[in-house]
Amino acid sequence: MLKRLFRYHLIMALDIAREVADKFFKKSGDIKLLFGERNPNYLVTTKDGKFVLKIHSVDEVLQLQIQQSALAALENLVKFQTPITVPATSGELLVDIGDGKFARMLSWIDGDLWSQSKNLSDGHKIALGKLIATVDIELGSVDVAKYRNELDRPFGWNALQVQSLVDDIELIKDAELKQHVKLVLDRVINGTLAKVKALPHQLIHNDGNDNNVVINEGSVVGLIDFGDLIYAPRVCGLAVGCAYQLDARDPVASIYSIVRGYHEVAPLSPAELEVLFDLICLRVATSVVMAHRQLAADPDNEYLGVSQDFFQALLPALTTVSDRLSHYRLRNACGYEAHPDSRHVRQWLATTDAKISDVVMPPFAQAKKIWLDWSGENKNIARSWEAIEAEMKSAGADVAIGHYCEDRNVYESDFFVDEGKESRTVHLAVDLFAPAGTPVYAALDGKVFLFHDNTAHLDNGPMIVLEHETDQGVKFHTLYAHLSRASLDGLSVGKEIKSGQQIATMGTEEVNVGWPPHTHFQLIMDLCDMAHDIWGVAAISELPVWRSMCPNPNLILRIPEGTDVHAHMKTETLAQEREVVLSRALSLNFQKHLEIVRGEGAYLYDRDGGKYLDLVNNVAHLGHSHPRVVAAAHKQMLTLNTNTRYWNQNAIEYARALAGTLPDPLSVVFFVNSGSEANDLALRLARTHTKANGMMVLEHAYHGHITSIIDISPYKFNGPGGEGCPDHVRVAPIPDAYKGIHRGEGSGEKYAADFANTLKTLDQPLCAFISESIVSSGGQVPLAPGFLKQAFAVSRAAGGLCISDEVQIGMGRMGKTFWGFELHDVVPDIVTIGKPLGSGHPLAAVVTTPEIAHSFMTGMEYFNTFGGNPVSAAIGQTVLDVIVDESLQRNALTVGNYLMAGVRELGKSIETIGDVRGSGLFIGVEFVTDRESQSPATKVTKDLIEFARENGVFLSSDGPADNVLKIKPPMIIGTKEVDIFLDVLERGLNSI
Ligand code: PMP
Repeated sequence: MLKRLFRYHLIMALDIAREVADKFFKKSGDIKLLFGERNPNYLVTTKDGKFVLKIHSVDEVLQLQIQQSALAALENLVKFQTPITVPATSGELLVDIGDGKFARMLSWIDGDLWSQSKNLSDGHKIALGKLIATVDIELGSVDVAKYRNELDRPFGWNALQVQSLVDDIELIKDAELKQHVKLVLDRVINGTLAKVKALPHQLIHNDGNDNNVVINEGSVVGLIDFGDLIYAPRVCGLAVGCAYQLDARDPVASIYSIVRGYHEVAPLSPAELEVLFDLICLRVATSVVMAHRQLAADPDNEYLGVSQDFFQALLPALTTVSDRLSHYRLRNACGYEAHPDSRHVRQWLATTDAKISDVVMPPFAQAKKIWLDWSGENKNIARSWEAIEAEMKSAGADVAIGHYCEDRNVYESDFFVDEGKESRTVHLAVDLFAPAGTPVYAALDGKVFLFHDNTAHLDNGPMIVLEHETDQGVKFHTLYAHLSRASLDGLSVGKEIKSGQQIATMGTEEVNVGWPPHTHFQLIMDLCDMAHDIWGVAAISELPVWRSMCPNPNLILRIPEGTDVHAHMKTETLAQEREVVLSRALSLNFQKHLEIVRGEGAYLYDRDGGKYLDLVNNVAHLGHSHPRVVAAAHKQMLTLNTNTRYWNQNAIEYARALAGTLPDPLSVVFFVNSGSEANDLALRLARTHTKANGMMVLEHAYHGHITSIIDISPYKFNGPGGEGCPDHVRVAPIPDAYKGIHRGEGSGEKYAADFANTLKTLDQPLCAFISESIVSSGGQVPLAPGFLKQAFAVSRAAGGLCISDEVQIGMGRMGKTFWGFELHDVVPDIVTIGKPLGSGHPLAAVVTTPEIAHSFMTGMEYFNTFGGNPVSAAIGQTVLDVIVDESLQRNALTVGNYLMAGVRELGKSIETIGDVRGSGLFIGVEFVTDRESQSPATKVTKDLIEFARENGVFLSSDGPADNVLKIKPPMIIGTKEVDIFLDVLERGLNSI
């Protein structure tokens, strides 16, 4: 990399430096001159650590004051380190050491520089982006008003001063290099700069290059060298970090990870992304100009010339890719739709009054169509015209349709592979196969944008691109390829074309360079300097970019059966997309994340065919993809799906059947769509009935994710990010007879007494007490015997209702009983049911008494759009039927007991198994480091879960210390599955 002019006059003999360190900073020890960029630095190694002594001249004092403010603002960084200023014994941060020299001391960050580190991965790049963002966010709070003059000093590395580089372009003798630099500077000066200047400014580090980033034990740990601080938009600092990590093969892809890492910490706005690529190019061009500037001042410095190889080689790669496409790709990397106007064009096409014409065979709606499967998965592709024609003939079809976003393997020419890059295989158009000579018409009014005969094998053949414009002046294009040569006769760029005007005929196979006769019809937002090499296919990893760049042509063709086959994206792409288009607050299972593509019975399958026994999912109550559930859903969806405002047997019969599983007086059913919604409705019912608001809940309980329910979920409000217990809620100790505050026999009563005492602290009337009968989020904790009955009595005596949350545990899972509360010989006032109710279909319910339901008749109507719709009800009824038909409650009892006995047997020899508990197929296995102290074996639990995954079994954990295996499989598992689990458990615990 380029080095700045070194201030040789500041260098001191080592023993003088040692004396300075000792005299002014009281740091004595080994001393060594470090390679610095501008100033001499000395590493001082003392008994209490390493420090850097820096020597400066008087003209730097103001600049150093800014640096001190910046470093002070960064002292409390948590995830990364920056140097901390060590004051002199005089208390000064910068001391005058005489002779026109000033000294300061900084802490040393252990590790190697990025530039010296090997095996750096995408993960490091993500961390680099986060590092730059983290530092710049903190710097944003530094008040620099009084330093503005100094920060805006003439400084070649300040992107905002790009104009100052222009005069020095002439120093570049290599004509080609000069051209590239000029192109970049022109582009920035004539367009980008104004946009950059319009962004908010702040103090930024501005030099995240690979000589300033510290890596220790494989992790990016810190940022050093605050000598380039400027006042500029934050994105300028990101651009600097990116510039030093570019790979000429695909410069934009090579910085995706940095940008994503940055975006995760400091979300990038569309306006910032619009200028990022140009700012990166500018940094590279700046480096080239600065090197020539310095070479001019110091012609004998060979180092300056050599260190430029990297950037000089990069420039052509940067100027030959489209800056607009780069912008779109960076937008996509951050989750924004790649092309900022694509949505507008799609909307315009969907709503415009402009005439949209049939591209072939008007009226195209009446043409008889067949669809060709050219996907890579089809082993029997009709590739030749003979084969296609035969298929069309046998179906009596006029036209065969080739799909949009189909991943094909027919692009076997080199033409679709760029050196060192992924081949382009995903089709961005719709193909319309018909005999050569079939007329082709313009879809919309427009003008000829370009036309060309692409003669390379498997290329586009003769093609025409028309340009169109929406009512808001946004331009886009339609492409018609594989035409006859004669179609190009008489065309001229700019020629007006009318919608529906015949513009071409389909070409023969010979003209069409190896393709059977068809028209490749594509919508294109921006040709991005592709000239006539217009991409009709894209790399699958860039599919989201190209979907936006080339919207589905069916917006024009309007084929009701559809054209989009949604090619299966790579797992890596899905992972990246998920990070930006779904909330990051949503975690993924396991340390090694998986793409699960199929479920059947008790097993899940990943994309590579890996098979996993699922002991986690109590939602798939009857097993994954139960054929009777699928059939019931399918049949009802084919027949009717409305809401519950009509008489419909499904909801009514099902409500009766569901209520039939519950004791009197629980008989009135409300259908909802999730456990959270059920609990929210339960609260409303209780509040309306009691006219009170106070709530009693159990420690560690979780009842759902919505606002009202987070308030009654200590697991959340006392967990990470939680805001503490609301005023209207009181939390009673979890009645855990194994490791709670009271243990063993008789503890239920003690917990009930605690409950009563906690209730006394509630300073408002009690509305309800809500609990599960086995507290799942607490770590599968069965309520100590006797507790629930007394807690219900205490709550009722206080005027409150009792709500049983059966979302996790209900529907026969307990084995012995159908519902969890039945284990405790109580009858709740309200029961909430969720997860298993629809065996995978989002279906939940609240069941209550006629009296409470009556109180709810306030005049305000209760309506739930989806709750109890005929499809959901058909599914719910089928689930109840199958539980009976397949004897699943009995199965839960016998298989659950077999499982618990098996684990207890293992516990005889494996000390880690501290407790085995639960009922039916709702089981907790608590891991401890020793049984006496019951200390949680959290790491063992985590490792075991990974071990089990590697060995084909999915497990999960919970509890305050995350040391309890939660076992809650589909109800259909048998002893064969339990044996698989026991084997993995034994092997895992013996090997971890
Ligand atoms: N109650 C309990 C006991 C739960 O475990 C959950 C979900 N884990 C809920 C309610 C909320 O259900 P949902 O996620 O369907 O809203």
